[in-house]
Amino acid sequence: MATNGLRVGIGYDLHRLQPGGPLRLGGVDIPFDRHWIAHSDGDALLHAVIDALLGAAALGDVGQMFPDTDPENRGRDSAEMLATALEAVAALGWQIVNVDCIVFAQRPKLLPHRQTIRQRLADILHIEVERVGLQAKTGEGIGPIGREEAIAAQCVALLEEGPRT
Ligand code: MG
Repeated sequence: MATNGLRVGIGYDLHRLQPGGPLRLGGVDIPFDRHWIAHSDGDALLHAVIDALLGAAALGDVGQMFPDTDPENRGRDSAEMLATALEAVAALGWQIVNVDCIVFAQRPKLLPHRQTIRQRLADILHIEVERVGLQAKTGEGIGPIGREEAIAAQCVALLEEGPRT
């Protein structure tokens, strides 16, 4: 494998919201009065993490690995998709150094759920929770995020070669 031992990847996702709940975010069901309009379970945070990992390993993106034209991906658990993406990345000899994520949501407040989501991400990724950063931003009341029409997420992932000792 031609490499210098480290790779960084970036991921972004946005999904529209509709009335209903709960909101599945980072693999955690958060009590909320809106949830995603999406083909899979709509978890934009996990989709951003998937894209960051796939991007770092130059394996494409979530839409390529899990096409929304495939009925098998309808309502699919994004945690399972992330596990599959992680396997593909690990198969190339990469492991995660850390991930850092931002959720852009006017509501709900993320702070009460932050540790739960970080731990859930760490569990899915098989890394220590100290390697998972999670930040939250509002939409400042403007635009589709500020009007609570959508929630978006970004993630960066750093990968290193070989098993960690
Ligand atoms: Mg998505």
